[in-house]
Order: sequence, then structure tokens, then C-alpha cells
Amino acid sequence: MTSYLIKGAAPLGAGPVDILVEDGVLRSIVAAGTASADGAEVVDATGLIALPGLVDLHTHLREPGREDAETVETGTQAAALGGFTAVHAMANTDPVADTAGVVEQVWRLGREAGHCDVFPVGAVTVGLAGERLAELGAMADSAARVRVFSDDGRCVADPVLMRRALEYVRAFDGLVAQHAQEPRLTEEAQMNEGELSGRLGLRGWPAVAEEAIIARDCLLAAHVGSRLHVCHLSTAGSVEIVRWAKARSRAEGGWEVTAEVCPHHLLLTDELAATYDPIYKVNPPLRTSADVEALRAGLADGTIDAVATDHAPHPHEDKDCEWQAAAFGMLGLETALSVVQQTMVDTGLLDWAGVAERMSHAPARIGRLDGHGRALAEGEPANLVLYDPGVRRTVDPAEGASLSRNTPYAGMELPGRVVATFLRGRPTVIDGKQS
Ligand SMILES: [Zn+2]
Repeated sequence: MTSYLIKGAAPLGAGPVDILVEDGVLRSIVAAGTASADGAEVVDATGLIALPGLVDLHTHLREPGREDAETVETGTQAAALGGFTAVHAMANTDPVADTAGVVEQVWRLGREAGHCDVFPVGAVTVGLAGERLAELGAMADSAARVRVFSDDGRCVADPVLMRRALEYVRAFDGLVAQHAQEPRLTEEAQMNEGELSGRLGLRGWPAVAEEAIIARDCLLAAHVGSRLHVCHLSTAGSVEIVRWAKARSRAEGGWEVTAEVCPHHLLLTDELAATYDPIYKVNPPLRTSADVEALRAGLADGTIDAVATDHAPHPHEDKDCEWQAAAFGMLGLETALSVVQQTMVDTGLLDWAGVAERMSHAPARIGRLDGHGRALAEGEPANLVLYDPGVRRTVDPAEGASLSRNTPYAGMELPGRVVATFLRGRPTVIDGKQS
């Protein structure tokens, strides 16, 4: 296995070091300019920040079933280009990932592709139908070792089923990741409910439909003593509820709530719906600028534990139509770090250590991934990303590795660029390109 000497990288933005990567681990980390390694390939990382390999709790890889939108191969290439070394693949495939057989298939496809580790998310209910629990234990015991369960795309709306799922996953230290959307309050919903939805004549998706489910689920998790994870927080009220629930959980112990936010909810607002361009149609919807401010503040103060992409590829025909008919969702893997830099780092809300916590350490901890989200320290697995925060780039969807093109940032200038990604000591990306 080739060794690499990474020269002059700044771990978490601190003083520059030389990092020797050998046999899949970080063999030595010494002051910049002092390392020499015979036979190692030299990577000049002057001016680059080193972060632990990013971990996504929320990716849609679409395989099996919608290989026209994305495959494990293309989706994990996109992940590597975005600096990720591990992604959780959501269960809403066809067939649904609700058995040991399907999750093992997705896990194996990830291993074979080799661009990024794939950890399948198991469905909570059979066929995502919300009627009876899927084989949670069998998925946990499978080779895929599932710990995160979600019906994402749909809400586990039945409180009895949600309670049973929370009780069941305790046996193997799993968690239920809820897509918080009260179904009756969001029938035919198209965008954030507010003055603008009325003016545009699009059915509103009210904040309360998200917040009511989050409040209910926090109370259920406390009641049964389990682990709840809230997917893609999008409203100021949701941040308030999670902040309250975390304070209660800290005081009581024995149960836990964690939460994620998507890059697009940190940057974009519902005003974009006025274009009627369905590239901005997403679930939960883009909200107001006050919500964006609250989400940034919640991510900064730790109320929101992690950034998750909700990378949701859709083929052209599912997006190139009128708003009402278009699919919900946007790409996210290849732009996540840049959007977090723009919204959180360049604004002074987070430093690079904070970014590492929210995009690597915390999501790995929540997903119970041993080999990811580790410190950049000698002896640790060599999962890392080299990032240049000093450049700006204009997003061109045609340059992406994803099979789909539905990025809301097309033509937009964003800061930063992933220069290299290492997965267990092997570069998956080098000089900003797949290797
Ligand atoms: Zn969702």
C-alpha cells in the first residue's frame, strides 16, 4: 500500500504539520517541514485545512430501484468529492431497505464501490407503510450492522408504532431518526406556509406540522428511555423544542435526543419559491430568514448536533416540470462543506474544530460508527479531507459526479474546495478529482 506524506496541512485550521499516512493509519504528525519519508508519495498541502473525513447521517443513494437518479457507485463518488468518508443510505429505495437482505445488499455495493463507506439505514416500518414494525433486530444483527432506523420521506406518524420502535432499538443501542411531518397538516403541501404561499397560490407546509411531531417524539423518547434523532430541522420553533428537550434529558439522564440540519436550510429561504422553479422544492421546505438565523444559532450552540446533507437526486424529468408536479429534494454531497463554510465559518459562528465536530465527530457518534469521526491523531484511521477555504468556485451541475443535476446552487459562487479525501489511507480524491 502506498504511503503518503502530506506536507504543511493545518489540522482544524491550527498550525501547519506534516502527516505521514501509512498502512491506512496516521503514522506520524510532526511540525511542518520536519518530516521525511523515503518512498512516500508527497502531497503538498500548504494552505489547506485538514479535517477528519466527513460523515453524513442522511443520504439518498437511490439504489436499488431508481438507478436512473443515482447509484451507490455515483453517489459515493459524489460523497468522496464532497469530503465524505462515510454516508448513511436512507431506506426509501425500491425494494425498501426493511429486511436484512436489502441492507446487506446496499452495504456490499458500498464496499465494492470503495469510494466511501456506506452504512444502510433500516426502515422502521414494513414498506415504509407505517403499519407494522420492520425486522429491526435482523437488520441490526446483519452484516450491515444497522443502528439508524428511519422511514425518511415519510413520518412515523402513529404514536404507538413510534413508541414501539423507540423501545425496540434500545436492545442494540440503535436510534430512530424521525422525518417529522404530521401528515394531516401537510396534505398536498408544496412550500412553507406563510404570507408568500398564499400569494403564490401554493398549499402551505406549516411549521407546526414539524414542531408537533418533534415535541411528541421527545416526550416519547423520555417516557421509554430511548434514543431519538430528528432529521432535517427547518424551523425556529423546532430548535426551541430540541433545546428544551436536551436540557430535560441532561437533567434526567437515560434518554437522548439529537438533531441535524441540512446545508440548504442554513442558506436558502422560501423567497426562492417565487421563481416557481422546482429546483427549490424540498421537504421540509425552505423556510423564512428568521428560521435560517435560528438554525445557524442552534448549530453554533450545539442544540443541533450535526449537519446532514439529505442529498436527494432526481432525474431531469422529475424536476423539469411545473412546481406542483415536481419531486421534493435537492443534491447536497458535493456542496455541503462549502455551504457550511459560507454560513457558519465565514460568519464567525463556528471555527474549523466546530465544523469537524458537526460534520464528522457528532454524526459518527450518533450512528455508532467506530472507524469514523476520530481525532486527527497518531495511530488513528487515516480518514481525512484536505480543504482549501481560500478559493471561490461557481457551481456547475455538469461537473458533479452525481447522476442527477438538481443542485439549487447552480451558477452560484461558493467558497472553498475539497482538494483531497483519504479513506483508510487511500486517496479517493486527489487534486480535486476522483483518483
Ligand atoms: Zn426527510
